Amino acid sequence: MIENTFGINIIPENEVQRLEALQRYRITDTPSEESFDGIAQLAAQIFNVPISLLSVVDSESVFFKANIGMGNAKKANRGKSLCALAILDKDVTVFEDALKESCLQANPNVMGDFGLRFYAGAPLITHDGFLIGTLCIIDQKPREFSDSERAILEGLAKTAMDQIELRRSSLETIEQAQQVNRQLITTQENLKKAVQDLAEFNVEMEATNEMLNSTNIELTKSFDLTISLNQDLKKSRQRLQSFISKAPIAFGILTGRDLVIEVANEMILKVWGKTSDVLRLPLAEALPELKGQPYLSILDNVFTSGKTYIGDTAPVKLEVEGILSDCFFDFIYEPLRNDSGETIAIIVIANEVTERINKKKELEDLNQQLEIALNAGQLGSYHLNIQNQELTGSSIFRTIYGLKDDEDLRFEDIMNIIMPEYREPIYDKINQSIESREPYSAEYKIKKKDQSIHWIHSSGLPSYDANGVAVGMTGIAIDITKRKNYETQKDDFLGIASHELKTPITSLKATIQLLTRLKENPNHQMIPRLIDQSSQSLEKLNNLVDDLLNMHRISEDQLQLKKQTFNISKMLEDCCNDIRLDGQFKLIIDGDLSTNVTADEHRIEQVVVNFVNNAVKYAADSEKIHLIIEQIEKNVKITVKDFGAGIDPSVQPYLFDRYYRATHEGRKYSGLGLGLYISSEIIKKHGGEIGVESTVGEGSSFWFTLPL
Ligand code: ADP
Repeated sequence: MIENTFGINIIPENEVQRLEALQRYRITDTPSEESFDGIAQLAAQIFNVPISLLSVVDSESVFFKANIGMGNAKKANRGKSLCALAILDKDVTVFEDALKESCLQANPNVMGDFGLRFYAGAPLITHDGFLIGTLCIIDQKPREFSDSERAILEGLAKTAMDQIELRRSSLETIEQAQQVNRQLITTQENLKKAVQDLAEFNVEMEATNEMLNSTNIELTKSFDLTISLNQDLKKSRQRLQSFISKAPIAFGILTGRDLVIEVANEMILKVWGKTSDVLRLPLAEALPELKGQPYLSILDNVFTSGKTYIGDTAPVKLEVEGILSDCFFDFIYEPLRNDSGETIAIIVIANEVTERINKKKELEDLNQQLEIALNAGQLGSYHLNIQNQELTGSSIFRTIYGLKDDEDLRFEDIMNIIMPEYREPIYDKINQSIESREPYSAEYKIKKKDQSIHWIHSSGLPSYDANGVAVGMTGIAIDITKRKNYETQKDDFLGIASHELKTPITSLKATIQLLTRLKENPNHQMIPRLIDQSSQSLEKLNNLVDDLLNMHRISEDQLQLKKQTFNISKMLEDCCNDIRLDGQFKLIIDGDLSTNVTADEHRIEQVVVNFVNNAVKYAADSEKIHLIIEQIEKNVKITVKDFGAGIDPSVQPYLFDRYYRATHEGRKYSGLGLGLYISSEIIKKHGGEIGVESTVGEGSSFWFTLPL
């Protein structure tokens, strides 16, 4: 709030708009100007007063734009300056004697040292009616102020106001000029820039021009090239066409949904068994035999999906020279698309692989046959890669060497299983075989993981690469333990047989020598005993030769049976008579004594005699021997039971093998190891069974059955 000394409201109603109007003139707080000073001076002179002011009334202060007689004062407080009152009235405000004015009783200008007594102020009125200031005259003594004087002051105020308006419009003009000037400068700058740009553009244009020139040259060259390329293209197109037509692969193009045969080379026509008459016919029409086969629908799918179809060894039934035959093809159906990606045709490329498939089948059959043969012969096959020493072996091969099916194998693994003394010779044989290109063959012993010893026969043939370097060895291996054992047994047997034959011959020889000496003395008491002895020796020899003959017959499968029906118990009685004569054993025949059987009596007797003789030989301590006849279902079972030392269970399975003879601790028995073998062959030939039950220390029961 401003200090108000007048005691009345000094703010006009339109104060806000008034101040805005004042702002327009931008006159407040500006230095004095000659033209305004002149008007104030004129007013002071005309009215003969010491003070004249041209003031503008701002919100708080009164600013003196022209000041005559008030020293350096620039402004005054609005609440104290009488001009604040003068702008409240459009007419001239006059105080002829200030002391008499009630509103000025507190005014310091009036009441203070300055001693203002007279004041006349004409308002400065803008063209739109706002009172922004005054032109006033002041005196320190009272005076009268006439109407004409008022009119003069009013006139002067108007002049001052005109001047202020003029000043304002010149200010605006200057500003506009400045504005224009600024715009001009900018335009000038822009112009300068444009000129620069133009220069640059010119340079670019020149470069482009050069480029265009060289492009033009290139284009001319390209044009020439295109012409020559076009010629080349024509040639290669012709080449491609002739290549396709003569290609050893079947090639065709089928167009449209109807799969019209557009292109079909010689090979595809040959495969189809058709002539070029099929060209431009729909496929289904050209090859009616395709009906019922999946290919038409596959082609249709390729058309719809636009996806390539690859057929691998696909079976196709094709009619060639009137005969429908099974063929196999590797083929491709490749869709051809137009610019919008739609399938318009299908390229068919096919390669007949019927021969390959047939060969493969043949090979598979052969392989299968080979596998069956190898299985039947229990032959293990192997292949050794000589370069990296890796070894692959069939399942049988692995079983032979006691190896698991999933183990990786190397040559040295096999070598480690082979017993040390055979390793060096095997290496030598393999190297020799590689060098001579002859098959390799070796027999050796191995020790399997379970510590069992086996005899192996292995053979192989080396293979070589193009440079003649040995790369592999392929062959077979077989477990020959049985054969090897048999061979040893056979060798042993020959020794035993010679020995066995030699004993009765030696004794016969001795007896005959004695008899020869006694030939002059026919009544000598020794003669009958010697004759007995020689006949015993002959009997023994006869038996041995019988056994040998029987064995020979059996091995040649010449054992003939002369079957007749006989009573078993009677047959047993007859056999036992000889042994009973000895008196050492009690022979007891038990069981179903009435049983008759149809069989070769002599051969069955041979079996029983063999059983009983063995009981006598191997169970010499036994006092009695039981012979039991039992009827079990449709068989008769005959058992010869002794009460001797019995037989170790581990050797029992081998007793009926040819040449097999068990060892008996501390005792030696003569024999060929043929008796039980011959017996078992006789019984088997009759369709019966043979076996033994024995407990060590309790005795043995040898038995056989015959069908009734
Ligand atoms: P061999 O008597 O000529 O040796 P065999 O074939 O008759 O031949 O008998 C085979 C083996 O069976 C004999 O070597 C013997 O070890 C054993 N054996 C046969 N009978 C008996 C028996 N009753 N008690 C014990 N061992 C027997």
